[in-house]
Formats: sequence, C-alpha cells, structure tokens
Amino acid sequence: MQVAGVELRGVRVLVVGLARSGVAACHVLARAGARVTACDTKPFENVPGAEAFVLQAPGVAAGYALVVISPGVPIDAPILNEARAAGIPVIAEIELASYFLHGRIIGITGSNGKTTTTSLIGHILSNAGVPMQVGGNIGTPLVAMVESSRDAQWNVLEVSSFQLEAVANFCADIAVCLNITPDHLDRHGTLEVYAGAKRRLFETQQADGFGVLNADDKWCVSFAATMPGRPVWFSLNNPVTPGCWLEGGQLVFDGEPFLAADEIRLRGLHNVENVLAASAAARLAGVPLAKIAEAVRSFPGVEHRLERVTTIHGVEYFNDSKATNVDATLKAIDAFPGGLWVILGGKDKGSDYTALREPLAGKARAALLIGAAAPKIAAQIAGAVPVIQCGTLERAVAEAHSHAKQNEVILLAPACASFDQFDNYEHRGQVFKQLVRALRGEGAAG
Ligand code: ADP
Repeated sequence: MQVAGVELRGVRVLVVGLARSGVAACHVLARAGARVTACDTKPFENVPGAEAFVLQAPGVAAGYALVVISPGVPIDAPILNEARAAGIPVIAEIELASYFLHGRIIGITGSNGKTTTTSLIGHILSNAGVPMQVGGNIGTPLVAMVESSRDAQWNVLEVSSFQLEAVANFCADIAVCLNITPDHLDRHGTLEVYAGAKRRLFETQQADGFGVLNADDKWCVSFAATMPGRPVWFSLNNPVTPGCWLEGGQLVFDGEPFLAADEIRLRGLHNVENVLAASAAARLAGVPLAKIAEAVRSFPGVEHRLERVTTIHGVEYFNDSKATNVDATLKAIDAFPGGLWVILGGKDKGSDYTALREPLAGKARAALLIGAAAPKIAAQIAGAVPVIQCGTLERAVAEAHSHAKQNEVILLAPACASFDQFDNYEHRGQVFKQLVRALRGEGAAG
C-alpha cells in the first residue's frame, strides 16, 4: 500500500501523538507492513502495533519515511517542521485512514453545529435502514473506523479544521459546511487561514461529489467558487435551488415541503439550520423526504448542546457547556425570548466578547462570570448588563438560583473553553447539572 507516495511495507513510520487515533494509526500502519515508532510528549509503554517508542523532542523525526500526526498535535510543532524540512511527508490521521477506508463519506465541518448535525445525519440514515457508521472528531477516530468500514456503507464523519489542514487524498462524497465564525484563532492565526482549512474539505472532492453549503454564510458561499463538486445549498432566509430552505414555517427541499419547523425538538434557529443541512445531506445519500422528517421528529439533540436540565420553582435551567465560542453563545441567547441569567467565562481563546453586549442588554437580567476570562469579559460587556463576579460555577449557580424568578431561565453558555477549571466541556456540563440537581433536592421540583 502506498500512502502519500510512500510504499509502507518495511519502511519506518513515526506516529506523533498517542491518543486514541495515534494508537489506531499504529495498528493500521503495522498491518500494512510498516515498522512503526510511536512518539508522544509523555512516555508510553508497549503501544500495540509499534516496535518502539520515542519521546517527542528535537531531532527525533530524522530517518523516517513518513510521519503521521494525531489531531491534537499542532501542525506547526517543531518536530513536524523538522520532518518537512528533511523532505519527509507529514500527514494527518484522517489522511492516513482515507487510503484504507471502505464505503462512501459524508464529511461535516463548520465552526459550530458539527456534532449536532453529524449525529442527526447518523440518526436519519440509521432510522432509514441505510448502513452507516458515525465518527471522526466525535466518538471513534476515522483511523479506528477502518476495520469496521464496508463498501456499501456511509461513513458519517465530523471533521475539524485541524484535521483538514493538510489533507490531499481524503475525499468526501458529500461535504457539509455549516458556518464559519471566529474560533480557535489562538491556533490558526487568522480567519482566512481557519476558513482555508475548512475549504480543503471541498477542494479535495471529485467532480461528482456534492458540497452542502450555507447560503447565508459568506465564507461558505466563497467555497462554491473553488470546489470541483456540485453545490447544494441550505438557507434560513431564501429559497435556494438545488437545496433545502425554511419558508412559512416549513422546511422545503427543492420546492417540496417536508417538515414543519415546530416539529423539531431542538431549540433555536441555529438548530433549524442544522436540520436543513442534515436533511440535504441525507436526501443526497438517497433517503426519502418522508423518512427524513420522521427521523428529525424523534431526534432528541446531543448532551451539553442547549440541553434542558430541569425546572425549579418555575425557573428553567439549560446546559450549553459546548458553547465554547462567542457565536455559539449568541445563538443560545437568541433561542430565548428574555429573562436570562447567563453564566459566562472560562479559558479565553483570544475572543472578542463585545458582540455579546447587545443581546445581553436586550435579554439578560445579569451575566454571572466565572474562570480566568472573567476580567476580560467584564471589561468588554461593562455597562451593557449587570455583572456578578462569581469565580466558580458553583457560586454562579447559587447566585443565579437566588435571584431568578418564575419563568426566567438560567443558562450556562460560557463562550470560553473550560480547561482553566475543568477537564473539558463535558466535565463542566456534568458539574453544572449536578449543581442544579442538588438545588432541586433542596426545593420542590416544578
Ligand atoms: P461543534 O461540534 O461544531 O462544536 P456542536 O453541535 O457540538 O458543534 O455545538 C457546539 C455549540 O454550538 C453548542 O453550544 C450549540 O448549541 C451551538 N450550535 C449548534 N449548532 C449551531 C449552528 N448551526 N450555529 C451556531 N451555533 C450552533
């Protein structure tokens, strides 16, 4: 098997980054006959498939025929730059997997909504009895899906911009981009570079591939100009053919209404966008519109994405811990008529929080600030809304609970990463839900 121009049998390959995908990459490479060395910043013993382990340090990439990187490893890490300077091909885990994978690919990218839309597409295909497996950036890394992949099957893959930065062989039959808004600029630098990575998903398609694009997003629109495949649009605002749009409260595909928007169980217009995109992708994969509608009606959403926790004394609690950037928080606020107590803060990603001023002024009773980003957020929203400095999530929940009145909403939508105080956003969401449930234990549940 040749990968990136390198015949794998008998050659030395270095796998950098040993999370789940790195370990799976070692396996795939070993099975193709390569002599694999695993590499990480932390020591590991006995990586299955690897002959040896080296600690990530200057100079260790010398002498390898190919370097494979896990998604968490920055593409400009010094060891990778050294490898490239020495003429060694450096490829991402999904690129490696693409040489071995069976079946067709639906790839979903965007700044926000990837997991929701990927899960929904999986739900629609599965409900329609179409053979499929879901993974990529959620659940199972692509390289670990190789073994279970089959020719007559769809691989429904969430793809992050980091994984797309250096793909060439990876090719989606149906590519979806939901939106491009500022995120991860601490790592990508500019919005152009960040958008450019997502554009790769469309640039690597074949002429008979489909690109499902948000007609309301200028970056997505720009992708259509450079893609070899055929654009299929979705829009909340206008009829778009070929494509899927919202008109008079109905979701419409190429002129045919198939679902009422109020039958979608997920809150917020952003989730209508996700349903439009997922419906277009599923239709292109051959699922009839009636089957799509049936599956959307039964889709409950994904944990930590604007997830309703409970109601206590008429106050509703929502966990949107996955709102790790400003746009996701804006969408969360937009999904409610008002009366909000919004918990914001965490680890800053170089974001501009001033965009929150107006919606907070219009809909929030107060912003409750937690974590390392609290001083920056306070400075950027000062005067727009009352600010309560809470430090911790525990304090923020207690404060919000003590102030909120009947029919108001307490919303965790932090606009920041979680790593200053939590292991990850899931941990933050779990802690929030535990704190809320503990409140319910004290009082009568409504
Ligand atoms: P991703 O996998 O791209 O991070 P998720 O589905 O996990 O996307 O959602 C991440 C956050 O973005 C959540 O807070 C969610 O409520 C919000 N969100 C979901 N869909 C959209 C969308 N289409 N546009 C903006 N925000 C969205």
